[in-house]
Amino acid sequence: MISALKGEIDIQKLPVDSEEHKFNSWKVKYKKSHILHSKCVNGPCEDDKNKCLLCIYNSELELPHLPDMVFPNNVMVLQHDNGCGIEFNALDALRRVSNGKLSLKVACSEEWKESRQEHGNLDEVKPFDWTFTTDYMGTLLGNFIVRQTDERINIEKLRQREQILFYNDLTLFEDELHDNGIAVCSVKVRVMPSSFFVLLRYFLRVDNVMLRTNDTRLYHEFGTDFILREYTSRAAQASEIKHVPPSVLREPNEVTPLLPLIESHYSKLSFPESSSSGIK
Ligand SMILES: [Zn+2]
Repeated sequence: MISALKGEIDIQKLPVDSEEHKFNSWKVKYKKSHILHSKCVNGPCEDDKNKCLLCIYNSELELPHLPDMVFPNNVMVLQHDNGCGIEFNALDALRRVSNGKLSLKVACSEEWKESRQEHGNLDEVKPFDWTFTTDYMGTLLGNFIVRQTDERINIEKLRQREQILFYNDLTLFEDELHDNGIAVCSVKVRVMPSSFFVLLRYFLRVDNVMLRTNDTRLYHEFGTDFILREYTSRAAQASEIKHVPPSVLREPNEVTPLLPLIESHYSKLSFPESSSSGIK
């Protein structure tokens, strides 16, 4: 009530869209709600226990400022009966923003600075990773054993026409880089009768400077005791992809396969088949 009087809405009190489904031994649930408010609802939160979401984000993250749009209540969870699972949320995704520690990012930042100088708004350039580049692969729950693997997700199998039992797409955060492009982190989940597939994507387009896609793909065939996880980072400077039409540059799905592979990790996440804690 007090916060409403101050003209600030506490999103923790707004309705949340949520669903929960059971597929074999897996529970798939998500919730979806409003964007993070831009001002503290308690103005300011002093009590450590009852902090508003904005103050939680500001204190947990070492970022001078947050992306334009953060969706703290957009959460996707896939969890096995034995407790092992994977969750996707904005706070953990933003924890992985490396804050301009990599020289590659600084170099890119210099170029961007130059491009911005022409537009006369250099003062807005920030001394941190303003692209919010994250290598977040989801948050693991329970006791997975994570090992490097030579096994790959069977793309052919995924392409086979199979009934879609569940599909959802959540945005975790998004920033328009002051109209210089876009940085967006989102997760898509698809459940079929034989398997589930997750694509967590961080996509960056700095107009006339560069593109980057950090993808995490997760694939599980029901009845097996593991999930395959593939992480790939692809990037290109604008000069390397001059031949690509602007309309394609705006479509993450179309442009990503055209970007050179910079880094990749392939993992097998194994979990105990039966419950150790007796949860059914
Ligand atoms: Zn607060």
